Amino acid sequence: MILDEIPALVDPSLKEQLLDGESVKELQKYSLLVNQVIEDFFKQSKFYKGDNIDEINNHRILAKIDGENTLPFEKALDYVNDLYVKNTIAFHNPNYVAHLNCPVALPAIAAEALTNTINTAIETWDQSTAATFIEQEVIRWICNEFSFPSTSDGVFTSGGTQSNFMGLLMARDNYAFEHYGINIKKNGWSEEVSKFRIFCTDKSHFSIKKNAALLGMGYNAVIPVKTDSEMKMDVNELVLAIEKEKQKGNIPIAVVATLGTTDFGSFDPLETISKIAKEHKMWLHADGAYGGCFVLTDTHKHYFEHIPSVDSITIDFHKTLFQPVCCSAVLIKDKQHFKYVSHYADYLNPIEDKDPERPNLIEKSIQTTKRFDALKVWLTVKTLGNKTIAQYLEKVHFLAKEVYKIIANDDRFEAAHKPELSTMVFRYKAIGVTEDRIHDTINMYIKSSLFKGGKASVASTKVDGKIFLKFTLLNPKNTIENLSNILDMIKQKGEQYKRSN
Ligand SMILES: *Cc1c(COP(=O)(O)O)cnc(C)c1O
Repeated sequence: MILDEIPALVDPSLKEQLLDGESVKELQKYSLLVNQVIEDFFKQSKFYKGDNIDEINNHRILAKIDGENTLPFEKALDYVNDLYVKNTIAFHNPNYVAHLNCPVALPAIAAEALTNTINTAIETWDQSTAATFIEQEVIRWICNEFSFPSTSDGVFTSGGTQSNFMGLLMARDNYAFEHYGINIKKNGWSEEVSKFRIFCTDKSHFSIKKNAALLGMGYNAVIPVKTDSEMKMDVNELVLAIEKEKQKGNIPIAVVATLGTTDFGSFDPLETISKIAKEHKMWLHADGAYGGCFVLTDTHKHYFEHIPSVDSITIDFHKTLFQPVCCSAVLIKDKQHFKYVSHYADYLNPIEDKDPERPNLIEKSIQTTKRFDALKVWLTVKTLGNKTIAQYLEKVHFLAKEVYKIIANDDRFEAAHKPELSTMVFRYKAIGVTEDRIHDTINMYIKSSLFKGGKASVASTKVDGKIFLKFTLLNPKNTIENLSNILDMIKQKGEQYKRSN
């Protein structure tokens, strides 16, 4: 269709719906309404109002949108409140102990409001100017905390999954280039790459396998290494696994050491792993999505002593730096390796325009349009400082150890491990029940009935094929009294199940 007339715009829509100097006063009206919704949400006492299947089905219907039937903003916001806010999960609530969701720091939210409203996209200098230095500086700050050398650099990503992807991509492309002169970025696949193998434990995050698949190497390129009784990589098993793959004609290219496994918070032994990786000329990636921020603490600093020997690190600020999602970074010891992802587009960052004084962060990223997530970290660190953050983390670690003590002294519970970070994996053991299958059913019942009743959100996972419950503690305002109360509710639900079955 050719337009031969100016499209008829509803006049007030242009004046009031698009944010600019003319409409910015309207923003206050929106902010006041939204703030009221936020206040009500944060004042509710339950982590979740609870659910039943009729209500869920009704929500599915209420969520429908057709682009025809519009509402004034106030009415639409009421709708959002009823449909979303009143039914959503409050991660800051002390009875939410399920996943790696933290309460967020106020300065981070203020930063988020700023960057979201101004809408900075941080991929090229001509879109982000000084914001570029803020991201660079946050990267420098965290690299320094890790004692990474001055050759290091990093970039913000959408999350640990993407950070791990970048680490593995560089591992693959660097190995192919250094050992076979293969340029994957340019020429794509080659036969040798089919033999590349990555080693991590069966407690590593699933994104390692998923990324191996996305990188064209497939799940089978990831070799699971056995863990010891503390859920850490067994280094003798690593050596055996490497030898075994070599004998098969495969090519070990990388090891992933997890610094804080998602379930157990366990740290793989970096010192020995780094020696083995070096000996076999393998890339060493540290997945610190969960544990990385503990480098700021006194309690866990020593775990990071050998970090300078790794090639890349994943760190999730949205897990353990009290940041709203998304907020993550990948750090690379030798910034030269960013060449495996860099691209010069004529319309965006032409090579002719390259100017060291005015960098384009896109050269380090697999994203194009990219959120300015760094400001919230910058403002948090600038106002709270490392020490306060460290105290928050030390507190949640302390809480996990206290929960362990309660569990270890109660024969109705079985602990799967001793907490190294801030998770506690355990199961409820009904008296007189010997079959694991029945324990599994009871523990699943406990988890789902506590959730559906809006009482508490506890996670579950499997240990040697058996179902266990998991507390993930990321709220420094939680108390041992409250956690002990959740344990009591677990026991009540367990007994209730046994009585009625
Ligand atoms: C959470 C987690 C990831 C994935 O991070 P996302 O930010 O959820 O993408 C990777 N590794 C570990 C160890 C994690 O705990």
